[in-house]
Formats: sequence, C-alpha cells, structure tokens
Amino acid sequence: MVIGDGQYIKHLNRSLILNKIIESGKISRADLSKITGLNKATISVQVANLLDEELIVETREEHTAIGRRPIMLSINKAAAYFLGIDLDYHTITYFISDLQGNIVSEEIVENNKKDYQSVILSLTNKMKSYEKIYQIARYGLAKITIGVHGTVNRDQSIQFIPKFKWYNVDIKSDIESEISTDLSIENNANLSAYAENVFHYHESNNLLNILLSSGIGAGIILDGDLHKGYDGHAGEMGHMIIYPNDKPCTCGNHGCWELYSSEPVLTEAIEEIKGSSFTTEDVESLLRSKDEEIKDAAEHWIENIAIGVNNIVNLYNPETIVINSKLLSAYPGAIAHIKTQLKSSITQYHDIVLSTLGKRSSAVGACAMGIQTFLEVPQLQINLIKEA
Ligand SMILES: [Zn+2]
Repeated sequence: MVIGDGQYIKHLNRSLILNKIIESGKISRADLSKITGLNKATISVQVANLLDEELIVETREEHTAIGRRPIMLSINKAAAYFLGIDLDYHTITYFISDLQGNIVSEEIVENNKKDYQSVILSLTNKMKSYEKIYQIARYGLAKITIGVHGTVNRDQSIQFIPKFKWYNVDIKSDIESEISTDLSIENNANLSAYAENVFHYHESNNLLNILLSSGIGAGIILDGDLHKGYDGHAGEMGHMIIYPNDKPCTCGNHGCWELYSSEPVLTEAIEEIKGSSFTTEDVESLLRSKDEEIKDAAEHWIENIAIGVNNIVNLYNPETIVINSKLLSAYPGAIAHIKTQLKSSITQYHDIVLSTLGKRSSAVGACAMGIQTFLEVPQLQINLIKEA
C-alpha cells in the first residue's frame, strides 16, 4: 500500500500519541503536547479520532487542589481483548489480557496428547469459545498469539517442536480458516524476552532472556528489535558446545550446554545424592535451605550455567541478561555466584537478573505482542500487570 506523505505523518503522530498514553497510564492533552512536541491542534484532532474509535477514554482527575480538574486520557481497556497461548508439553496455558495489558483471565489445561490433529482441535475449540466470550467488546477478541517450544520459521510455520516430534507443520494455516481472529505464531523464548522488555526493562534495547527449564532457549533483543536470524531460529543456545566430545545430545552433537545446565540435570544429581526421587517443589525447598549435602552439586550446576552465560555475553554485549529458571531462583546467591565466574576482563554487561515473570512470561508476552500489532505502535511499554 502506498501512503501519501500527509497520511504517513498522521499515522506516525497517531502511533506517538498512543505510545505516550500507554506509557503514562493517564495523561492530559496539554502534557501530551509537551511530551510529543506536537502542537495542540494536532493533538486535538488525533485525540478526537481515537475517542471516536473508542480506543481511548476521558476521565476527570479527582483532586481537591484549586483550579480546573484536568481531563485525562487513558487507553480504553475494554475496547479489545488478546489471547496469549503457551503451548507447552503437558499443559496449554490460555491468558486473556485487556487493551492495557492487564491479565483478566488465566486458564491452564492439562494436555497429554502429542498428535498434531488432536492438539489443533483442542486449540481451535478454545479459541472459538474465547471469541464468543469477548464478542461484546468493541473490537472483540482482537489478536491471538501462540508461543511454541520449538523453532518457528520467518513465515510463522513451524520447523520443529522436539517434544511433540512435529516437523514442518503450519499451525497458522491449519487453524486460521476455522476462526475469525488474526493469529500469530512465535517461539516461546522470543515471547519471554519481549515480555521482559515490555513489562520490566523498558530502557534495555539490548536484552537477552535465557529460558532455563527442561531445555535452554534464548530470546534476543538487539537494538530494540527481536533478533531472529536468517531462518528465524536464532537463540538455540542450549546447543552451543561447552564440553567437546562429552555427552551425546539429541541434536547430533556432543557436550551441548543444556546437557549440563538445564533444570532436570540438577534434579537428577540431587536424586542421586539423596537416593530418592523428588518433585520440583522438593528440589526448590532443598535449594532454598542450602542443604549441605547438595550444595556442591548446586554450585557445580551454576558454574556450568555461567560458562554459557560467559559465551553469550561475549557474543552479544547485552545490557541486561534475564534468566528465567525456577530452580536457579530458589538458590540464594545464585546470580552472585554466576557473576563471580565471569572473570574475563573483556566480558561486558550491565546486569544479570532473575525473571519475576517466571512461567507466565511467554503467555503474557503473547498477549502484549497482540496489543502492539493491534495498535500499530512501533514499541510498547506497559507499567503494570494487574491480576484478575
Ligand atoms: Zn545439542
């Protein structure tokens, strides 16, 4: 589509205004003009259009100070809803967010099926039921985004989901004809990185998010954009080799990072020391109490994590590294221990932190990505996730 200059500028101004309203939560027309540098007439026309479209609402500030109460503008949260899905191996999580990014519902469904047709059918049925629930909103259910634990091609088809053993499937095409909402497919680690950027680390244009659970994946934000690579598969860092010619990996290589640093590795080491099997919660509580018997195993595991982190830092020079791991979060001083392992004088980063979004990061990121696409804004900064 060719857009004339005037239209193009109008579109840019609209994006800028919407961005500032989202970031501020509530803002007056006068402050919008100040922050954006746009004149009052432009603000006035744009705001009138956004009010007409019901994307924003006006409220009067309740305060007792002398003078007029300013009219504030905020995003009309009930105008549209967004479905974010985390398609995990044993569970499928469905999050609904409103247009402000607040999570309004969360549903976790057990999933024991792996065959493609059954999973597609249950996804489609759920999507249809959410479409029905939210059809009363002005824009209904506006976007659906599915996060998958596998490699996603640039055209959003799936190259491979290891645990399902799905090769070259096209969920988007297979579901799209059955539903009326726009559907996107994205890698779960990318969605997690995106969520950390949108909800917490707004200023971090170079952010690396390491998802460390049954395997290891990473989402990379470089200079403000998700870095996808030539095919779209960037971030498969669990398969960088840290011990050549050592343990064999399902990928065909030996000594891959996730064979030494994923969560099941630590659980197995602890089970061997203790001579019995443990749930994740048991392992977490042993870690939290810094149980003497398992301390060496935990620190060895953390040191293996640090080897990978060292390599990644030297590759990308990130500002923020967010590590999303339940077990690592349970061990007191884990991040400090990683930092002490990063001894190279050329290793540069600003900070390494633990994710506070945890398991919800992918689905929350999926909702937020829907909001950004729907509003057609170049970036999104949301300040709060309120729970239903
Ligand atoms: Zn491997």
